[in-house]
Parts: sequence; structure tokens; C-alpha cells
Amino acid sequence: MRCADTGSYAGQRIGSNGIGDYRMTQTRLVEVRQNVLKHNDVLARELRARFEKAGVYVVSFVSSPGSGKTAFLEKTLTLLREKYRVAALVGDLATENDAARLARAEVPVKQIVTGTICHLEAQMIKKSLEDWDLNELDCLFVENVGNLVCPSSYDLGEALRVVLMSTTEGEDKPRKYPTIFNTADVAVITKMDLAEACEFDLQAAHASIQAVRPRMKIFEVSSKTGAGMDKWLEFLRSERETKQLVK
Ligand code: MG
Ligand code: ZN
Repeated sequence: MRCADTGSYAGQRIGSNGIGDYRMTQTRLVEVRQNVLKHNDVLARELRARFEKAGVYVVSFVSSPGSGKTAFLEKTLTLLREKYRVAALVGDLATENDAARLARAEVPVKQIVTGTICHLEAQMIKKSLEDWDLNELDCLFVENVGNLVCPSSYDLGEALRVVLMSTTEGEDKPRKYPTIFNTADVAVITKMDLAEACEFDLQAAHASIQAVRPRMKIFEVSSKTGAGMDKWLEFLRSERETKQLVK
């Protein structure tokens, strides 16, 4: 995996091998990266304005691979679609498996295959939405590529960013990846049905999240049993309303 922003320049060398040249290259890298991020922020702001105008509540999911984003998304879509017009965009490096799985939720789903890029960018969201009428949606979900590092740098124009961690991971994930927890609005602990078998220390997980992000709202869910889904959906409903997106 690589980041598009630095990856395309990482192999290039300006001048010869001198230390000065190395420093110059590093400076260039930082500049290129800053420009990419600036461009992304401009696009994300445009997207956010479009979403607000169309009355679409946009929620993004970030987590490491295997945290159960797709299962949680499928459950969420299935439960919401009775009352809301929902759709999803799912990012993945290579496969379209997630979109195929999500097709079971019987709502519009589009896969974004990022190839070698290990995160979603605002441009990809914009492009994927070209043939969708936002006015016909109430909620749009965006599943980012499984990665706890660089997705934190890319604003996608979402109203709510959700970071997920599962009971099959270490309780100290938040302390190891503080940036992603800092850029997220709420945390969801998934696979609660496996907590006991995995000897997951729930208290330690909460402490780890709170250490990075004091007072962060945390949901505990099981996509398999449906436990905790009611609280999560109630939260989504009220958030959507407080953002005055109800038409
Ligand atoms: Mg997935
Ligand atoms: Zn990346």
C-alpha cells in the first residue's frame, strides 16, 4: 500500500546524492503533500456544501482492516432503509467484494476501487457521485479503505466521522493511532459478541479512547446479534436532526 500524495514522488530524485539534494527533495515532498491536502480540503468543502444543500447526512467509517466496517454498514443500511433513503460508497484497494456483500441490504451501493491508494480522497467521492441525484437521498455512508493512518488526513466532506475498533483487536489501538481517533467524532466498538471469547478488556478500551479523546462518545455493537444497534441508530437520527437536515 502507498499513499498517492507522497508515493508518486518518493522514487524521484532531484539532482545527485548530496545531503543538500536530499534535503531539497524532502522539502519538495512536504510541499507536494501540502498541496495535495489543500486541494483535497477545497473539494471536501465543496462536497459538504452540496450535501447540506441536498439535505443528505453523510457518515464515514474508518478502521483497520477486519474491524467489521462492512458488516456494521450492512446492518445499519438494512435497519435504516425502512425510514430513510440510504446509499453507500465503499472504498477498497482491489476487490469489489464489499459492494457485493452490501447489495444484500438492497440499497444503492457503489464500490470505489482505489488500486494502490490506501485511503479515500474527496475527488473519488465527487467522481462516484456524478450519476447519483443527491436530492433523492437522506443518508449517505462512506466506508473508507481499512487503514488507521492516512485516512485521518483526508476530509471527505462528511458530517460525521466514525472510527471503529473491534473486540478482536488490541485495546490500545487508540493510543497507537491517536490521530485517527482525534479526527473522528464518535467511536464504535464492534464484534461485542466475541468480547468474552477474545478476553477483550472493555474498560481498558474505553480508557484508551478517553486518553486520546476525552469524552468521546462510544458505542458498543454486535452486527451479528444486533446488540447496541438501537442506541446507534437513535444517535444517527438525532444527529441528523440537529444538523437541521430534515426536510
Ligand atoms: Mg470492508
Ligand atoms: Zn493512504
